[in-house]
Amino acid sequence: MEPFSEPIYITRPVLPDLDRVVDRLRDVWGSKCLTNMGDQHGFLERKLREVLKVPGLSLFNNGTTALIAACKVLELKGEVITTPFTFPATAHALVWNGITPVFCDIDPETLNIDAGKIEDLITSETTAILPVHVFGTPCDVGKIQAIADQHGLKVIYDAAHAFGVEINGRGIGTFGDISMFSFHATKLFHTAEGGALTYNDPGFRKKIYYARNFGIKNEEEVVDIGVNGKMNEIQAALGVVVLDYVEEEKEKRKKLEAIYRRCLGGVEGVSFLSEISGVEKSYQYFVVKIDEDAFGVSRDEVYEKLKGYNVFTRKYFYPLCSNYSCYKDFSSTGVDVLPVANKVVKQTLSMPFYGGLAIEDVEKICNMVKLCRK
Ligand SMILES: *Cc1c(COP(=O)(O)O)cnc(C)c1O
Repeated sequence: MEPFSEPIYITRPVLPDLDRVVDRLRDVWGSKCLTNMGDQHGFLERKLREVLKVPGLSLFNNGTTALIAACKVLELKGEVITTPFTFPATAHALVWNGITPVFCDIDPETLNIDAGKIEDLITSETTAILPVHVFGTPCDVGKIQAIADQHGLKVIYDAAHAFGVEINGRGIGTFGDISMFSFHATKLFHTAEGGALTYNDPGFRKKIYYARNFGIKNEEEVVDIGVNGKMNEIQAALGVVVLDYVEEEKEKRKKLEAIYRRCLGGVEGVSFLSEISGVEKSYQYFVVKIDEDAFGVSRDEVYEKLKGYNVFTRKYFYPLCSNYSCYKDFSSTGVDVLPVANKVVKQTLSMPFYGGLAIEDVEKICNMVKLCRK
């Protein structure tokens, strides 16, 4: 089969009609306000509160700063239980707060933290649980909250992949104490760089405000040791326009996902992540699992061979956080204590998945996957 003439990547950012962005920027120029919570910022916050169905939402300049601030606002210390199957920012945000991440093994079906294994890791030092809704699949939020309540722990969700996810109509950002969303360009909804925290407790709004803006209360009072986590007006203006394209992008991705499922569904050794009933999905990624014994070749070989066809997939989340050199001295990182994560991380492959991809392209990619077999 002929390779694609142009490289195909796993994603491309939603790029709105430039004229519409420029129109919005004209308003910013007119206001002479480029940052510090201006009109665009206020407008985007209100819109996102509706779209995500959350009572409280605060914008940030990126998701990582938001997560670091959330740990500070919740006054976390000691140890926090999290997942090794995630992007570096999840564990790093803990360490930036002087907290020790304790890695918990994952569920082989959802790839999320295995809620059944959390309690064994709780010590007198544990202050919170930081699960990730991996690839947009919701964690076992009920069980996690029950464990947290029983042991007096906080819950922060890394919802970076979960924009628009709902469980039986309830916004994913309403679970736990605080959830973090990322609006990086690779995410379904984006502001080039950006993020947000969502919460139910209205008391968090002011604390987050200080954590995000140097702790400045007024011209003469600085009341907290905050960072600079503000989303600027140019990011917010872009976000307001991008938001109008999200539904259409999701519809396109829904169709592409159906093609992947149809074309690869019957292939021995290729499986998909399980779908949970009652869940509105984010369509952030489309991930397959390749079982080397059944498929005949490994995930790594598929990844390499697809490159030969000009298709650039990603081995998310390889390597595991627990296997990074910077975490090798932490006690919860052994391969033997995280058997599922260490197995699954060799099987998952994130496929090209964005609205601009043609149906025929996805069909072709599926055929290329099949041709990877010996
Ligand atoms: C993208 C991402 C982040 C980081 O968000 P930024 O906005 O890039 O800082 C954190 N966690 C996960 C799981 C992510 O995918």
